[in-house]
Amino acid sequence: MICYDYINEYIRKTIKESGGILKELESFAAENHVPIVQPEVARLLLVLGRLLKPGRILELGTAIGYSAILLSGVLKPGGKIDTIDRYEIMVDIAKQNIKKAGLEDVIHVITGDAIEVLRCLDKKYDMIFLDAAKGQYGEFLPECLRMLNQGGLLVSDNVLYKGMVASDRLVVRRQKTIVQRMRSYLELINKNEDLETSLIPIGDGVAISYKK
Ligand code: SAH
Ligand code: MG
Repeated sequence: MICYDYINEYIRKTIKESGGILKELESFAAENHVPIVQPEVARLLLVLGRLLKPGRILELGTAIGYSAILLSGVLKPGGKIDTIDRYEIMVDIAKQNIKKAGLEDVIHVITGDAIEVLRCLDKKYDMIFLDAAKGQYGEFLPECLRMLNQGGLLVSDNVLYKGMVASDRLVVRRQKTIVQRMRSYLELINKNEDLETSLIPIGDGVAISYKK
């Protein structure tokens, strides 16, 4: 929790429970320690997605398919999601979940390391959700910006990384490099002339960047 616990607990209580497959996946994630988006971040993604009505979404970090299935609900009719993960066991589980949700024609899972896959992709997206390999966001950025449409959103998750990014007092020694890289990434997206960025302290920290 990176904001006051009492505020977070209150916000959580205001959020309506998910139903169907999303609820099942939330239980699976909790039991198996899969870091799916936190409920308040899920709500933010849904609100942003409803406003944007994206035709195409790119996601880095599929895990069990939770956020991809969630985001499928905001797509324009006929819209598609490409989502990348390098962990084959996860990809198999994600594919099963996507099939169960009847979304095989909507969500395309690509197995591989995000940076390698990104370099091979040459499509345009209206929304990119960055949720994999925190230490590499800076490397992903040029590839993401190349493929993000004007008027599109880049949403980056876990950018405050347990609060460590905002305070040296919290930094655990072996996470120092990730923290420094994340600070550089935040500087990049904040300074970039093509982007309008807002950093929001919910979940593990979310940055929303609009491409002008
Ligand atoms: N977006 C998901 C959660 C993703 S968890 C959700 O909210 O439901 C992060 C995922 O990123 C993990 O499954 C991990 O395997 C994947 N990952 C980490 N580093 C990666 C990399 N370099 N390339 C591709 N996937 C990566
Ligand atoms: Mg995350």
